[in-house]
Amino acid sequence: DDRIARIASSIRVIPDFPKPGILFQDITTLLLNPKAFKDTIDLFVERYKDKNINVVAGIEARGFIFGPPIALAIGAKFVPMRKPKKLPGEVISEEYSLEYGTDVIEMHVGAVQAGERALVVDDLIATGGTLSAAIRLLERVGVDVVECACLIELPELKGRDRLGDRPLYVLIS
Ligand code: IMP
Repeated sequence: DDRIARIASSIRVIPDFPKPGILFQDITTLLLNPKAFKDTIDLFVERYKDKNINVVAGIEARGFIFGPPIALAIGAKFVPMRKPKKLPGEVISEEYSLEYGTDVIEMHVGAVQAGERALVVDDLIATGGTLSAAIRLLERVGVDVVECACLIELPELKGRDRLGDRPLYVLIS
């Protein structure tokens, strides 16, 4: 699929951001290229349009860029999974470990119902800590996580192994 090559070449790599030694994958350059941005959304929509998905859960912040156009195209609702203290209503939270310390993601109570079928969207999977916390949050309230979708996977970090048997689909590895 020549769309993948166009998407890959529109992602910029910035060394030593946000810390020395990190090669940051910057998707903002993909957003500047309407064809590559559309190809990205189209690839996900083609994969998920007939899978009876009712929920697209997007992870702050870049899951908020890619999740909503996918949700609109497949007729699903969009649910933001946010960093702590951002959501105004009652929330449920899930903690996850980072290289140093822990972080938390939150979701509004009542945003999803038991038995709904969810796709979890983020831009990138590194260690898999963020996506695995999102899966736990959704599964705690009885949601069926059908798949996780990211533009980019850093395979050497083996994040995929932290997702249990939930499938992960990525455009670029
Ligand atoms: P993980 O929890 O270790 O899998 O890290 C994934 C999270 O960190 C995602 O929400 C990503 O948006 C963010 N992240 C980590 N590295 C990068 C990067 O190189 N570019 C963009 N986002 C990144």
